[in-house]
Amino acid sequence: MSNLTITCHCGRNSFSLPVTLPLDSKYKNVHVCLCSDCRYQNGTFAGTFIPSPSAPFDPESTPETLTRYKSSAKACRYFCSTCSSQLFFRYETPELTKDEDQGFFLATGCLELPPGEKLGIDTIGYVKDALDGGLASWTPGKNITTTFDDPLTDEDIHALEATAMSQYTDTEKLEGACHCGRIKLRVSRQTGKPEELPPHTFSDNTDAVIPCWTPREDQPPIDEKNPWWIRDAQDPGKGKRFLGGLCTCKSCRTIAGAEVQGWVFIPIVCIEVILPNGEAVPWPTKEQLQRESKYKDLISTYKSTPGDPGVLRGFCGGCGANVFWDGLTRRNFVDISAGLFTHRGLREEGWIEWWTGRVSYVEESLERNDLGVLLEQGLKEWKKRLGGTV
Ligand SMILES: [Zn+2]
Ligand SMILES: [Zn+2]
Ligand SMILES: [Zn+2]
Ligand SMILES: [Zn+2]
Repeated sequence: MSNLTITCHCGRNSFSLPVTLPLDSKYKNVHVCLCSDCRYQNGTFAGTFIPSPSAPFDPESTPETLTRYKSSAKACRYFCSTCSSQLFFRYETPELTKDEDQGFFLATGCLELPPGEKLGIDTIGYVKDALDGGLASWTPGKNITTTFDDPLTDEDIHALEATAMSQYTDTEKLEGACHCGRIKLRVSRQTGKPEELPPHTFSDNTDAVIPCWTPREDQPPIDEKNPWWIRDAQDPGKGKRFLGGLCTCKSCRTIAGAEVQGWVFIPIVCIEVILPNGEAVPWPTKEQLQRESKYKDLISTYKSTPGDPGVLRGFCGGCGANVFWDGLTRRNFVDISAGLFTHRGLREEGWIEWWTGRVSYVEESLERNDLGVLLEQGLKEWKKRLGGTV
């Protein structure tokens, strides 16, 4: 016998579920879900789940350290009330809860596997929910994508992409929201104006663009006129774009409860928060977020030390959606969860240039799963297939 252990980022929630070894494939092969509930509720592009070998707790009495969120008529989700790590999904309808597991699934991002075990991929589901194919565009040739009823080929996914792209209209603002709708964001275009440039706005190189293992002295300095976060328009004459990227670092993985997190890198001068009374206000500073009730009551924060000194993350206390990441070397700049902006499809290429060179901290996924490497390769193939224009 051994255990599957699921532990949140801050460690206040930890559950051990007995299993026999070798591990049955149903506990190793992750289901990747692209449904809108998963995207808006964890803030990333996908939920990743395995069935729970047994019920982690009595669903009639939720532990105090967890928040239960009813995400649909049939299901609820549980996240850590302190750090927002997504931990469990549970079907609540009687026909789906009669087994020993009581309808529980484990969000694999927080899962620790027995030594020597590695996660595979079972299926990628609800692909059509992602409108443009979502993450499935970046896992070519694997024949794992599905609508749940029918398998989808790569050609089916290319057709979804083309249909979504042909329906995109240029929007004046990019709108985003969490699952419960409490947190609403409105993003304006970058233009290269002084407020978006150093020294007013600043961020070190992101790991996606310059890998973390690059010696400090070999890292290029930030270009003050054309910093990495201001990207050219997709087509001549169109507006400038933000950079978006995927991350498989342990910290993002455990907070999202998913094996991969998507970020968009945005100078805060471009972001407005829509308060519950409808008023649009500028994105708050770190100090405002932690002190002023107008913001504190809306966006919960978590200082994710000691793993990430000085890092502040933000989430929705209502539904648990991961909202932002902010670090020590930053000035007026924040990473916003890309899943919040997926109501028209995943990619919003008129607004976001997806970095295809690397998945951030892919090294942290290598011993754990096949997904990081698969996505890194898939991003490159996607760019090649579309003629390098993405
Ligand atoms: Zn926690
Ligand atoms: Zn889902
Ligand atoms: Zn919410
Ligand atoms: Zn990360």
